[in-house]
Amino acid sequence: MFNKRTKIKDLLTTEATGQEVIVMGWVRTFRNNQFIALNDGSTNNNIQIVAELGSLDEATIKRITTSASMKVTGQLIPSQGKGQKVEVKATAVEILGDSDPEKYPLQLRNRPSLEFLREIAHLRFRTNTFGAIFRVRHSLAFAVHQFFHQKGFVYMHTPIITASDAEGAGEMFRVTTLPPENAPKNDDGTINYKEDFFGRSTNLTVSGQLEGELAATAFSEIYTFGPTFRAENSNTARHLAEFWMIEPEMAFYDLEDNMNLAEEFIKHLIRFAMENNREDLEFLAQRLVEEEKQLPQDKRSEMGLIEKLEFVLNNDFTRITYTEAIDILLQSPAYKKKKFQYEVKWGVDMQSEHERYLVEKHFKKPVIVTNYPKEIKSFYMRENEDGKTVAAMDILAPGIGEIVGGSQREERLDKLTKRMEELHIPTEEMWWFLDTRRYGTVPHAGFGLGFERMVLFVTGMTNIRDVIAFPRTPKNAEF
Ligand code: ATP
Ligand code: MN
Repeated sequence: MFNKRTKIKDLLTTEATGQEVIVMGWVRTFRNNQFIALNDGSTNNNIQIVAELGSLDEATIKRITTSASMKVTGQLIPSQGKGQKVEVKATAVEILGDSDPEKYPLQLRNRPSLEFLREIAHLRFRTNTFGAIFRVRHSLAFAVHQFFHQKGFVYMHTPIITASDAEGAGEMFRVTTLPPENAPKNDDGTINYKEDFFGRSTNLTVSGQLEGELAATAFSEIYTFGPTFRAENSNTARHLAEFWMIEPEMAFYDLEDNMNLAEEFIKHLIRFAMENNREDLEFLAQRLVEEEKQLPQDKRSEMGLIEKLEFVLNNDFTRITYTEAIDILLQSPAYKKKKFQYEVKWGVDMQSEHERYLVEKHFKKPVIVTNYPKEIKSFYMRENEDGKTVAAMDILAPGIGEIVGGSQREERLDKLTKRMEELHIPTEEMWWFLDTRRYGTVPHAGFGLGFERMVLFVTGMTNIRDVIAFPRTPKNAEF
């Protein structure tokens, strides 16, 4: 068997008694022809390999370069040097793969910028920053399943290819096998999708919600966790064309139950990372401090990363209605000094500048905004008594803006079909969705949490391209 290695993370906490160990990894640094800092991605901490002077031949020494991979057999001993408790006294060093130092693009010494690292996203996992981010991302994904599993929710895999933009959530990517140059046409010149693979026009999903509702009206409580696609041409630090979303959907829930679950869920994710990724979070906290040193004092975060996460865990999210939110904005010094670029008045869709004012300047903590005007929200949201607003809720997070969008769903068939007709959504095509309202309809609710926005929040990173391995954004699908 080849792989009898011990992971570096485990070695670093093992009591060193001179026992024989095998480690494998990639070289971070090599000094004095003797000390190798080896990393295998299990932690940002390297294990120090010590080769007795003269024990390595010239040829091997030449091949120990940054990012070369190797297998080391040796004894785990207490370290004489500072900075580590244990080290490996090598008895055999085998280079598994060379790395030409003249060509290797990632020279860690001169602190590569995040922008540069995006261009070599295939190698950026080998930096401490991305090592930490992606281990945290992993933990958060695990915690998602843990949270819902322990509550008895059923994990549904909703389809990636769908036939409807039922949500109206955004621009869609078309899925077709028709030849682009000479697609079959109808008499009126439009493309005849009856000839297409599925016999109809299809797209990549923008949300699994509608299918989630179908499942929730049988299992009571379900969640989805999968990729979603939006061809939105907005080149922001918060939008991806391909992102991962978690969408729980619960029967017998009203808006308040929905908010309670969302808040508990977000806190669970944060707590899980705090308990399981302390070292990585501390590293990221320090990184943030360094990064913000370039900013003027008033642009820096008021709290450190760990402090911020603890604060969120220990405080209730503020809950206000959309109407209250608009009033706060209208009363704000920012509004009076004409600092907002976009209009503020009842009925407008709040822009990111408004959301960020509410969470970062006014409340200084996560805020749940409820009961939005129905005109700016989706057709399936439950109409309130006032006839003007719907039982929607968005959760806004400091530094991020919207992190969750959700609602109580309209379970009343007559109201739902009326709203669909008003918005010209074809009710015949949506027969399957409406059937849930025909056969044992129930009050139900759900929400969508953008996974990458959650990862941004927990890691303190500021650009969404840095928390997904290979970001898809306008004009960018490298790797
Ligand atoms: P936004 O106003 O920020 O574009 P949205 O209103 O379009 O968000 P929803 O349709 O409610 O968002 O989607 C649910 C969640 O999915 C959002 O709260 C957000 O966390 C996330 N999300 C939405 N669009 C994107 C995107 N393009 N990239 C990454 N995450 C997204
Ligand atoms: Mn959007």
